[in-house]
This record gives sequence, C-alpha cells and structure tokens, in this order.
Amino acid sequence: MLTSVVGINWGDEGKGRMVDLLSEQQDIVCRYQGGNNAGHTVVNHLGKFILNLLPSGILRPEVVNVMGNGMVIDIAHLCGEIGRLREGGVTITPEHLKISDKAVICMPYNVAQDCLEEERLKDAKYGSTRRGIAPIYGDKYLKKALRMGDLKQPEALKKNLKNILEWKNLTITGVYGAKPFAYDEMLAWLEKYGTPLLDYICDTGVYLEEAIGQGKNIMFEAQLGALRDIDFGIYPYTSSSSTIAAYGPIGAGIPGHGLDRVLGIMKAYSTCVGEGPFTAEMFGDEAEELRKAGGEYGAATGRPRRVGGFDVVASKYGVWVQGATELALTKMDVLSYLDKIPVVVSYDVNGKTVHAFPMGQDLTDAKPNVEYLDGWGTDISGCRKFEDLPENAQKYVKYIEQAVNCPITYISVGAEREQIIVL
Ligand code: GDP
Ligand code: MG
Repeated sequence: MLTSVVGINWGDEGKGRMVDLLSEQQDIVCRYQGGNNAGHTVVNHLGKFILNLLPSGILRPEVVNVMGNGMVIDIAHLCGEIGRLREGGVTITPEHLKISDKAVICMPYNVAQDCLEEERLKDAKYGSTRRGIAPIYGDKYLKKALRMGDLKQPEALKKNLKNILEWKNLTITGVYGAKPFAYDEMLAWLEKYGTPLLDYICDTGVYLEEAIGQGKNIMFEAQLGALRDIDFGIYPYTSSSSTIAAYGPIGAGIPGHGLDRVLGIMKAYSTCVGEGPFTAEMFGDEAEELRKAGGEYGAATGRPRRVGGFDVVASKYGVWVQGATELALTKMDVLSYLDKIPVVVSYDVNGKTVHAFPMGQDLTDAKPNVEYLDGWGTDISGCRKFEDLPENAQKYVKYIEQAVNCPITYISVGAEREQIIVL
C-alpha cells in the first residue's frame, strides 16, 4: 500500500504530527522533495522534535526512513539534525535511514546565493527561508549540482566540484560582487560532513522496489503545501520543488508506481509564512489573537506566520491539486476561543464573485468574501470521539467537508500523538 501525506494549504498544516501518528502502520516513510526549509514538529513520549530534513518516521525505531532523489540536502545541517536527535535519545543507523545517491547536495555557496539575492531584491524579496533551496534546485536543473552518490567517488567528486565552483564563482563575484568560495574549503566541507553519511547512501529505488515486492506499507511525507508547489502553487511565491502527492513515488525513487491513498492535511484556519498573495489574511488584534492561540511561529525559522480564517476557495483547489482521497482537519482546538468563526467562502476579483482559485494578477487582486459560523466556546482538546465535540464544532467540520467536497477522516485537537479523533 502506497500512501501520500500532503499539505492542502500553504504548509504548516501539521503534516509532521500526522505522519508521526500514522507511521505506526507503516514500514517505510519517505521524504521526496525540498530541503531543510521544512519544519515538521513531532511531539511524543520522548519530547518535542523539529525535523527539517529527516522523515517524521525517524522517531519510531521500527520504521525505515528514506530521503529520496527529489530532495536537496545540506549535509552539514543533516549531520547536526542527526546529532540533536541522538542527544534526545533517538537511535539512527543505516538500517533505518537510507539516503538516495541521486539527491543533490545543497552547498554553502547556494545558501550564500539565496541570501545575496534576497538582499538584492530588498522590498521585492520572495520571503525565502535563506537555506539555499531555490539556488540548488536551479543548479540541479542546470545540471551543475553534486549528488550524494558523488561522495562515494572521491576523484570524481573533486573534478565535479572544481568545474562547478569555477562556474558558480562567476555569479557570486560578477553578479553580486561577493567573495569567491575557495575550492579547498568546499572540499573540506564535503569531506567533513559527507564522511559520516557514507554508510547511509544507497539506491533508494532498488530498496523500495524490493520492499513493494514484500508487500510493505510505504508512506510519502510532503514538505509544504499544495499552494507552494512549483507548478500549481502561487508562483513565484512557491517553493522550488513539487509538493504534490503524485510526485511522491518519483521523488522517492520508484517513478513507475501509483498511489493507493492520498491523505491531505488541512488546517481548520489559514496560515502562510513569507511573502505572496494570501487572500484570507487577517490583520491587527484579530490576527494577533489567532497567531497566539495557534502558536503560529515558523518551526524552521521562528518567523511569525500570517494568519486568516479557513479559505474554502484555496482549500478546495488544494484538495484537487493533491488528488486527496481523504482529509485530516488539524488544529481545530485553536478556534475554541472564537464566538464567531470567519470562513472565506468566495473571492471578489474585479467586481466578480469567483469560486475557482485564481492565478497571477487576479489572485493578487482578490478580496475575500467572509461568512461567520457560530463558535463552540469550550475547550475541545480532550475530545476523542466525534460525538464528544460540541454541536457547533461538529457543524463546523461538516460545513468544511461539504465545502471542499472530500471526506474528513481525522480531526486533530492538540499537538500530542493521542489528541486525535478518528472518523
Ligand atoms: P508541518 O510543517 O505541516 O509538519 O507543521 P508544523 O509542525 O510546521 O506546524 C504545526 C504546528 O502545530 C506544530 O507546532 C504542531 O505541534 C502543532 N499542532 C499540530 N496539530 C495540532 C493540533 O491539532 N492542535 C494544536 N493546538 N497544535 C497542533
Ligand atoms: Mg512546518
């Protein structure tokens, strides 16, 4: 059985928390795109962990975790992340972590380039996490990137690094007027952080193909949400990778396989980190209250997230992009403080009411049409059955389910593993 767990919105829907919960029934969890710009929070009996690169199944010793070819990996960050988890009592061995030999390495000059470009853009900046993600994906498609497998071929690695660095420094010095990166320093960096990872690097496609033959359950864990997908998201305020479910098998290393199940993670309200059009956005005290109630500060960066009411237009589009077969509605408990719950039911674009998610300038021009549903005015974080929820909370779930036209099968009412209602 192949399952994708993906974000329906702008990211930070609670994917990490759902993967941690659902990985109980999984043999293998794969990350298939993105890099350490992700921040997946998992809270369990060992404590609270924020995962940037590692799949969220890493906290279960019986689950094998795969970092697929679709990822971009900052190896210094990965070594640090593994070290922090080990200090927290998590065991990480080559038996239960496999890194694709085809994943590309995010280099220090990519991080520098990301920062230099955001500085150059000033007020027009993209709101990058400045982790080098866009530059390294650019390099990948220009075919000027080093791959994890190169670390196992020291002579080829040196040659490739030399060629790529010569090219990259033309941009670093010529375009940005910054200091060039030294070959010796980059090689030392690759050796320092690459050597501890050597035993983990393999052909994840071969591994996964064999696992499928043995009838294993495999889960693909997305980073970010549908609206950040490079093709279908709010371009250019997207990420640089494919965040959609269908890319899961490709980015993990088994491109010929389809999915059996797509679980979309959808937040009970809207949040968005960084720049770009965000039609549902609230401002002032209303926003501050929701941000506080939901603890909406970036897991990877600490940045305050922009917040708003649930957005039917964007979420319905997200459900379609992901091909979701079912949904988990997360962070319902956060809305308990509200008397009236705002929901964006349609957009107004240049005087016309629209229900289909617009793109480009139409999206920038869109104004939200908001309706209010009655709140439930009581803490629901202890509820474990749908019937336990107050009537108005039940109505809110049913309303959303109908609005986005996809069954809600989980409702999460807290960050802890067991704070969940299964329908
Ligand atoms: P991800 O990037 O999709 O994995 O989500 P993040 O981890 O960035 O953000 C979700 C945040 O909400 C984390 O701090 C979680 O611990 C927390 N969280 C997840 N589910 C719930 C929930 O149902 N209720 C509350 N109150 N917090 C939750
Ligand atoms: Mg996150």
